[in-house]
Amino acid sequence: MSEILVKNAQTVLTMNDAGQELSGVDIRVKDGKIAEIGRGLESSGAVIEASECVVTPGLVNTHHHLYQTLTRAVPGGQDALLFGWLKTLYPIWARFGPEEMYVSAQIGLAELALSGCSMSSDHLYLYPGGASLDDTIHAAHEVGLRFHPTRGAMSIGESDGGLPPDSLVEKEAAILEDCIRVIDRFHDAREGAMVRVGVAPCSPFSVSRELMRDAALLARDKGVMLHTHLAENDEDIAYSEAQFGCRPGQYAEDLGWTGDDVWHAHCVKLDAQEIDLFSKSGTGVAHCPCSNCRLGSGIAPVRQMRDAGVKVGLGVDGSASNDAGLLIDEARQAMLLQRVSRGADAMSAREALWIATRGGAEVLGRPDCGQITVGKRADLALWDVSGIEAAGSWDKAAILLAGPRRVRHLLVEGRPVVRDFQIATFDLSEAIVKQNRLALRLAETI
Ligand SMILES: [Zn+2]
Repeated sequence: MSEILVKNAQTVLTMNDAGQELSGVDIRVKDGKIAEIGRGLESSGAVIEASECVVTPGLVNTHHHLYQTLTRAVPGGQDALLFGWLKTLYPIWARFGPEEMYVSAQIGLAELALSGCSMSSDHLYLYPGGASLDDTIHAAHEVGLRFHPTRGAMSIGESDGGLPPDSLVEKEAAILEDCIRVIDRFHDAREGAMVRVGVAPCSPFSVSRELMRDAALLARDKGVMLHTHLAENDEDIAYSEAQFGCRPGQYAEDLGWTGDDVWHAHCVKLDAQEIDLFSKSGTGVAHCPCSNCRLGSGIAPVRQMRDAGVKVGLGVDGSASNDAGLLIDEARQAMLLQRVSRGADAMSAREALWIATRGGAEVLGRPDCGQITVGKRADLALWDVSGIEAAGSWDKAAILLAGPRRVRHLLVEGRPVVRDFQIATFDLSEAIVKQNRLALRLAETI
């Protein structure tokens, strides 16, 4: 594989164990890994001039529903609370098929890439019209991002007292069978893997207790991770107490849903006992600040989680509840939200960026990613700080306070995915035209 040399970086925020920040160094990338860091390095490969750039590890997105990029800003859902919002969107999602899944994933992943994200998970929990997890995996391959798709599921439809229409739920035996199929076909446990599959029932209120338990058993048998939504808002807690007679943390623990191979999205309403449980068990959290604001869910206790040693990463959440998919904005929002609730010293710009990079890699079980260290994977985001956003900044590395929202270059596994602010791997303009055409078609049929 060819080499790339990132030359003369203005600042490198390594996110390594020592928290080093380096100035004026080069980074030599070879065979998908960081081969060398130092001054005056030589390389036979392409050279990327980085003297105007702050270099960070690629950002890591720990929670998304890529298919929702096709239902952004739907009028009926714009101002609804979570459950009402879901009821507005379910009938639209029921009209999706493989093409909708593929194109929306392309768009969502490209949007992430432009905002500095090199690795993303996805939570796909509905499979209408012959759609499959395969559709999103093919899209990720084309875009070039490192991808952790999770095989989500819903099994309790309206006729059984659930929220989703019956047409969007599946039989539990078929769900488990398809989990096995996609793990066997796509999951790569090796270091440097570009695809790792997880198992992810949509939420404790959309599948049975038995499926939650069986999903955990299956994931452990296969050596893959577990993911779901947990403790998102007050309604969620009330539902758990009424239906299960306990809080969400207790429910998760009882069914095998805690451990360092588990991460939960949102966790806005975790109490002190649950934070302690997550800390002791190594359970991870996908914090989705913009989605929490957008749906009025509340402010997740991220400061308390971090102080207690809980692993926290960031997620853009589905594009329909954000409605953007820009991960760098989530990092800024995470910083601001903690300050709203706890004061200006509650979270620094550098800590929020650490959560967005190294924190996310830890949540997804990827010690090979998330830091700029020799031997780690070459996932690098280059932020050009010579533009207007950072003009006048006294600390160019504080990009979450004053800095660009779009990367100049993004390398994933040593390959350019964004080059000079543009997607380098596929025809994004064509995909945008397709996406808008599909959205229009969906709008005409409701
Ligand atoms: Zn979500």
